[in-house]
Amino acid sequence: MQMRTLIHDISQFVGKTVTLQGWVDTKRDHGKLTFIDLRDRTGKLQCVGFQKMGELTTESVVELRGEVKERPERLVNAEQEFGAYELDVGKYEVLNQAGELPIPIDDDGLSIGEEVRLKYRYLDLRRERMQKIVRLRSRFTRAIREALYAEDFVEVETPMLTKSTKEGARDFVVPSRFYPGSFYALPQSPQQYKQLLMTAGLERYFQIAKCIRDEDLRADRGFEFTQIDLEMSFVDQTGVMELVEDFVKKAVKEVGGVLRDETFPVVNYLDAIKKYGEDRFDLRSDAEKEAGVLAFAWVVKFPFFKRVDKKDAAEVADGKSGWTFTHNPFSMPLPEYLEQHLAGKDLGDIVTTQYDLVCNGYEVGGGSIRAHKPEILQATFRAMGYSDKEITESIGHMLEAFKVGTPPHGGIALGLDRLVMLLAGESSLKEVIAFPMTSTGKTAVMLAPNQIEAKQLKELGLEVLG
Ligand code: ASP
Repeated sequence: MQMRTLIHDISQFVGKTVTLQGWVDTKRDHGKLTFIDLRDRTGKLQCVGFQKMGELTTESVVELRGEVKERPERLVNAEQEFGAYELDVGKYEVLNQAGELPIPIDDDGLSIGEEVRLKYRYLDLRRERMQKIVRLRSRFTRAIREALYAEDFVEVETPMLTKSTKEGARDFVVPSRFYPGSFYALPQSPQQYKQLLMTAGLERYFQIAKCIRDEDLRADRGFEFTQIDLEMSFVDQTGVMELVEDFVKKAVKEVGGVLRDETFPVVNYLDAIKKYGEDRFDLRSDAEKEAGVLAFAWVVKFPFFKRVDKKDAAEVADGKSGWTFTHNPFSMPLPEYLEQHLAGKDLGDIVTTQYDLVCNGYEVGGGSIRAHKPEILQATFRAMGYSDKEITESIGHMLEAFKVGTPPHGGIALGLDRLVMLLAGESSLKEVIAFPMTSTGKTAVMLAPNQIEAKQLKELGLEVLG
């Protein structure tokens, strides 16, 4: 292959012969002349063929070789970034011929039905709007990573095949071939492993983590999502909040986001409910909404426990006493409630160290200072009605770890999908996930879940009823 020139470098090659590779964005035939706009990841360029390229179809992948020319002033296309140049095509090769496309990709795509859009997601992502979003997400993730590395965080991966993690949703389970009748759970979050990394002496951990929860599907909610997950040792609530606020601001600005408040307001949960009627409020004025401003705020002082909602299977399973946690069973109550917590008294009044980050009416993150002593965590599970035996089965490993030198610690998880959605000015999470699920729980393009062969079922010791 010839050395490839990228379109954004084209001005350096005027008068020279170059090889370009990319997609046929548009094609216009004018008698003996064929004009195409060639598109690569860096831009678009008009390419002109004399008595050639007539057979090219849009979205085919081509390699063009020819001379770079400056267009005469009156022919400069001011609307295109590289509209002052063109390629006089000498020869070309079709690297992959595109037939008729199943969906149009030259508009924003929003009027196409979801099933079709996601079936052809690889094409859907080719449209300009989606390219921008995917790249924005990547830049934002990078900015977050860099900000955290600069603060001495260590990036660690935690297992995908694991044990139930208690984030208040149903688990997705995976059957084990080696232990027929036994199952792994996919992580609802890395909560317990990240705490164990504090026991391990990492002090500052983060991960861009996939979390999987079997929740009821809604138009805008799939089963998996991505968290910016972190945990720190030797910190208090303010310490975590300050650090998070700092790197969120940095990363948001890095990708051109505009903040309403340089210091995020902190609102007590009860005040939020009184003032806004909910704990995920929107502080923006209409003008700020129009301007695409991001209004972050913290919510603190949440109740630790709530009464079980009998319609919620996960809550019923966790809250055997009729009480379950509001946010996170691994949290520490605020110091003034510790005694009451240990005694398991007046559960509804206990306030936790939970802090939620909200933005533009959405919850974009949440975390807490954790119970790092066995008796505190034990008290939480007792409050939820777990017997000592059930506690050992469920979180015995955490209690053991809390007896070998676990530092005080706390952390947070931020919803990466949601943050990117707000930064991109989109209103659906699906617009910012490369391959999201359909609203009916089918995976993009490949349409799982699907049935497996009888042989596989047998190997796993499973039988499908009905
Ligand atoms: N594990 C929690 C969640 O996924 C977040 C945290 O407390 O760090 O919501």
